[in-house]
Amino acid sequence: MSRRAPELKGPADLAIMRQAGLIVWEVIQAMIAAVRPGATTAEIDRLAEHETRRRGATPAFKGYRGFPASLCISVNEEVVHGIPSEQRSLREGDVVSLDFGVFMGGFYGDSAVTVPVGQVAPEAARLIDATRAAMHAGIGAARAGNRLHDIGHAVQRVAEGAGFSVVRDFVGHGIGRRLHEEPQVPNYGTEGTGVRLKPGMVLAIEPMVNAGLPEVEILDDGWTAITLDRRPSAHFEHTVAIGPEGPTILTLPDGVPPGREGLLGDP
Ligand code: MG
Ligand code: MG
Repeated sequence: MSRRAPELKGPADLAIMRQAGLIVWEVIQAMIAAVRPGATTAEIDRLAEHETRRRGATPAFKGYRGFPASLCISVNEEVVHGIPSEQRSLREGDVVSLDFGVFMGGFYGDSAVTVPVGQVAPEAARLIDATRAAMHAGIGAARAGNRLHDIGHAVQRVAEGAGFSVVRDFVGHGIGRRLHEEPQVPNYGTEGTGVRLKPGMVLAIEPMVNAGLPEVEILDDGWTAITLDRRPSAHFEHTVAIGPEGPTILTLPDGVPPGREGLLGDP
């Protein structure tokens, strides 16, 4: 991948990205409300597409490098890029990652949340909470003047501090007029290294955290990443704008406290 300087967004760009981000949030809330035992993952995908189009936006992932659906839905040992299916019904105890993005007005928004289906194993619940907390630690480090790998360092400290491991094979990214822009944003790293963070950078910060080992493999469908040890994985993501005063989470509405993603109930 080329190492271009991260593109800086101006106020007009950020206003559109905020609108896109809020649509992502709303669609994810609708999906969370639909996650229940017996729901098929294809059903949740159709809901996401419908809720996106009726808001005047386009699902970002459909057709992206040939991805066949609007939603990446990854259950239990699936880490990311799970493909929705009529054959896959959710079951009590499943851990479900919903990774979703939209394109609107020339810009992208991208976010992910992991939710339990009913009652899950205590370790799975802890994994979800630790992954969400790791994401917010990363977001907290996304400040002008800091370095890029301060983000990954903060993510890693929280995830590993909880006894879990950080996936290396997939990373966060810059986002804007393209879904994936420079820089790549690893969820691990050395404090004080990497490019200097500047106001106007917009980053998708998205830790994938495994209960067991960090290694993943890709299924024969060419997309679905699963943990090598088949233990569960969780994924949270926000699109975050770095401002002069600190980070703004574009995929979270004003008035919704950060740190409760997936715990908010019906929209
Ligand atoms: Mg995403
Ligand atoms: Mg992303």
